[in-house]
Amino acid sequence: MTIVSSTPLVEAGILAPLTPEEAAAVEAKKQAMDKVLSTAGLAKYKIEIMFGKNYAPSKPSHGAMSFWESGSKFHGGGDTVLYICPGRHKGINECEAFIPDHWHHHGFLVCPKCHKMWKGEDVVGQIMAVLTARDWTRLTLKYYLRLELSADIYIKYHPSDIRSAAQKEQERQQFGEQLDVVRSKRASKIYPLRNIIKDTSAGAALEDRIFAFIVS
Ligand SMILES: [Zn+2]
Repeated sequence: MTIVSSTPLVEAGILAPLTPEEAAAVEAKKQAMDKVLSTAGLAKYKIEIMFGKNYAPSKPSHGAMSFWESGSKFHGGGDTVLYICPGRHKGINECEAFIPDHWHHHGFLVCPKCHKMWKGEDVVGQIMAVLTARDWTRLTLKYYLRLELSADIYIKYHPSDIRSAAQKEQERQQFGEQLDVVRSKRASKIYPLRNIIKDTSAGAALEDRIFAFIVS
């Protein structure tokens, strides 16, 4: 399932600025991440934003956000997609937990948090929206926090209309494989976790650094 348009994001509060509690949590976890980096230095996840051909930093742009577990560094394989439990979006419960791909068996996924079993086509594989650079930043920050600040941020540029690419993905329901093929071939820029930590350790706001990366 692809979540389309920013309306559900606004309703779910995802696009709201960080609350004081969330901002404090970012700061606390930044301290913890410094320690993690000094030992492992690796981000566990990737947040990827794919923009289409009409992308412009100065105006609201179509994009697709997806989430990945970094494979090569941790278990020797390729990246695997992280799904989002659709419980809240379907109005069944309040759950929006990430569901790792290894919870995927025989076309069904079990949410590790609410333990509901979902069909493959029901879980959220990507978020499509038309947002300003500032709102793409906020969306990134919200999920960055949910991924425990252990994420590299990737931006890719698709040469065609992002909506048609995402629609194909949704129709084929190949559990991210189609998207995976697309993402592996496109020009990209990366804001790796170690740079994020370095840039913010001097006191720069995380939101401002991510915004600068998105519009760069
Ligand atoms: Zn759930």
